[in-house]
Amino acid sequence: MIVAIDGPSGTGKSSTSKAVAAKLGLSYLDTGAQYRAMTWWMLNNGVDVDDAVAVADAAGKPVIVSGTDPAAPAITVDGEDASGPIRTQEVTAAVSAVSAVPEVRARMVEVQRAAATSSDGIVVEGRDIGTTVFPEATVKIFLTASPEARAARRSGELNGAQSVADTRAALIKRDAADSGRTTSPLAKATDAVEVDTTQLSLEQVVERVVTLVEEKRDTR
Ligand code: C5P
Repeated sequence: MIVAIDGPSGTGKSSTSKAVAAKLGLSYLDTGAQYRAMTWWMLNNGVDVDDAVAVADAAGKPVIVSGTDPAAPAITVDGEDASGPIRTQEVTAAVSAVSAVPEVRARMVEVQRAAATSSDGIVVEGRDIGTTVFPEATVKIFLTASPEARAARRSGELNGAQSVADTRAALIKRDAADSGRTTSPLAKATDAVEVDTTQLSLEQVVERVVTLVEEKRDTR
């Protein structure tokens, strides 16, 4: 059982994915955190994130390990807890450049497929899960929301450290980069169910996804 949850930033992917996994007793994998961890390592090790050749050369170096418990998501880089530092604005601003590099993606996809193989069932969130990482996923969801709703949510998560207007501009820039890259861009799989979360509470979104998964489970 693989549940793929894709969509742009700020649509509620992480909250939804964790809650769905917890409700259904599945593992959980945040692939965005893995690209952030790779980016954090590049920044820490003096790699110019805008130099795709340098990023590609270094992509095999960091050892990135993700926990898969939805109640306690964890990520380490070379054995060091990276869950805090990967959320800084510095990493957020650099992550799209790093994640566009094919060698980075190849490495991460390998780790993501291994996590699914070693689990009894998993919810995986990202940008290319339904299209590239798990094209055979049991259920594919593509979350969307208006730019205003997304910016308001992200700004709230940052505790107002960034204005809603600045957050909106940063989100739009990151989504354009993620959608416009050549290798496995952010995209809705043709067989994904699109859920617009603009007017929905988290509980409503979770309910909708859980129902879709249970329907699929019953017909298998
Ligand atoms: O989900 P989150 O906002 O943490 O993702 C951070 C970044 O990681 C995205 O903006 C994107 O550049 C990259 N990403 C990706 N493919 C995924 C998940 C995330 O390229 N499957």
